[in-house]
Amino acid sequence: MAIEPGRGSEPARYALRAGDWRIDLNERLGRPLRLTWSGAIACTHCGRATKKSFAQGYCYPCFKKLAQCDTCIVKPETCHFFAGTCREPEWAERHCFQPHVVYLANSSGLKVGITRGTQVPTRWLDQGAIQALPILEVATRQQSGLVETLFKEEVADRTNWRAMLKGEVASLDLVEERDRLLPRLDGGLAALRERFGAEAIRVVDAAPVSLDYPVVEYPRKIVSHNFDKQPVVEGTLMGLKGQYLILDSGVINLRKFTGYEVTLEAA
Ligand SMILES: [Zn+2]
Repeated sequence: MAIEPGRGSEPARYALRAGDWRIDLNERLGRPLRLTWSGAIACTHCGRATKKSFAQGYCYPCFKKLAQCDTCIVKPETCHFFAGTCREPEWAERHCFQPHVVYLANSSGLKVGITRGTQVPTRWLDQGAIQALPILEVATRQQSGLVETLFKEEVADRTNWRAMLKGEVASLDLVEERDRLLPRLDGGLAALRERFGAEAIRVVDAAPVSLDYPVVEYPRKIVSHNFDKQPVVEGTLMGLKGQYLILDSGVINLRKFTGYEVTLEAA
């Protein structure tokens, strides 16, 4: 699923992608939809058929071999590049040894997160955040993980996806949160600057961003659809938020089913 920020005051734009095909989902709001999984899964990296999807879209050999499937991607502070054990040093040069952003966001309350500089604001839309504020820019992914670890003492790093999908999220003053948090982490940040150089970890003075989603009606109760249990998912499309389709019959996290061969019909 492709998510793009809306133009001006418009909500985010959602589309389903398959090869060169793009199906606009915003246009289908309020209309019935049927998604049918054929039972096939193709690895998003190598295209090989796989019975089971690993790490949201990979076959087992890719899952074991690719750097992007290594645990240090989820926990960048455990980067082992300098130990000479990186699975794909060239991939790491392109993806991990690039500027990263540490941000505050509000998806179901205050959280801290990290992303490669180029992934802003896609990352926030993926998480269903309604507000976000970049606070620090760091030189590498590992450093972003180390900074995030400092923040985790004070702030959550996860989204309560049920609250996010119910739209039960109060607006926050992220600038105020930043100004409250940064002094508390002064010591930890100074230690990281000593290790990586003063220029490596910089506070950025960015403006807070608001994000809006195309939702006709939020669900009161969250029921999840799962292709593995029920290959046909149908209902009226009530909204799109984060990686979820909100149908009147339940929600489905499409990210989870990356690589699944699915037919979409206007039911
Ligand atoms: Zn593969």
